[in-house]
Amino acid sequence: ASKKAGRDQVTFFTDEMGTAAKARDLLEIELARGIENDEFVLHYQPRIDVASGQVVGAEGLVRWMHPTRGLILPSDFIAVCEETGLIEDLGRKVLEQGCEQAIKWHRAGLELDVSLNVSPRQFSDPALLETLFRLANLPDFPLGHIELEVTENVLIGDPDAIAEKLKAITAMGYNIAIDDFGTGYSNLAYILRFPLTCIKIDRSFISQLPSSGPLVQLIISLGEQTGAMVVSEGVETHKQLDWLRKHDCAQAQGHVIAPPLQVAKFESFLAKGR
Ligand code: C2E
Ligand code: MG
Ligand code: MG
Ligand code: MG
Repeated sequence: ASKKAGRDQVTFFTDEMGTAAKARDLLEIELARGIENDEFVLHYQPRIDVASGQVVGAEGLVRWMHPTRGLILPSDFIAVCEETGLIEDLGRKVLEQGCEQAIKWHRAGLELDVSLNVSPRQFSDPALLETLFRLANLPDFPLGHIELEVTENVLIGDPDAIAEKLKAITAMGYNIAIDDFGTGYSNLAYILRFPLTCIKIDRSFISQLPSSGPLVQLIISLGEQTGAMVVSEGVETHKQLDWLRKHDCAQAQGHVIAPPLQVAKFESFLAKGR
């Protein structure tokens, strides 16, 4: 009986592995097809100036509009895209879409800073610089108003090589934000030498206010001393927003203001605020 149970267990285990591997293969095929068919759309989350409440920018966040499964969030596909290299194609399309949108808003006379996320594999892809160069040279490109968000993990590695790449990117007129600040394993001494224009305080610290207050205040003063704009992410309550206003955090993003919105809804949100 024990032998049989053992054999069953092995069979069970193999089946599970097979199913998971098959599901992943299928996802990979579906992703490649979806990228090819332009099923990925950026939604935009407003970023406000805390003191005035005015919308000053938007973060582009990618969504997969799957033909049968509906809207799929990045947590279900970004990691697989990173592992398989599909992020190189998807990431390029996201940058193109985001910059094209920023150009449209710029032409419409809207003053908005547009932020776009760049993942680690995308950052190390040599083709990134070419893509950014091509986009920065499009007519009516809003120089100085496109920001690339990278996490601390992107900034781990050879500091000279990273600094050189960041310098090349900022020389083209892009700004660099450090995303999810405080959650990574980066060397703070190196990080602060990089040309960062913005620090985004991770949502996990904002959700723990006011007990995380000393840490949030420390990041705010770090921004003041380095000249980087400080943005709080994931602000969900008016209490949190009031705390941030009282402690001079420059900008905020979060569901208390608005969730990521499709373009038309983002535009009507903007119109309502004016
Ligand atoms: P992130 O860049 O840190 O984006 C913030 C995430 O927090 C977004 O999740 C946003 O929808 C969510 N969020 C915003 N406000 C609130 C709030 O008040 N409460 C809560 N609970 N959540 C809030 P999303 O859109 O699911 O994106 C998750 C992550 O996927 C992003 O984190 C980013 O790392 C990655 N990602 C999203 N779009 C792209 C993209 O176009 N390219 C790349 N490479 N990565 C992307
Ligand atoms: Mg981000
Ligand atoms: Mg973040
Ligand atoms: Mg994040």
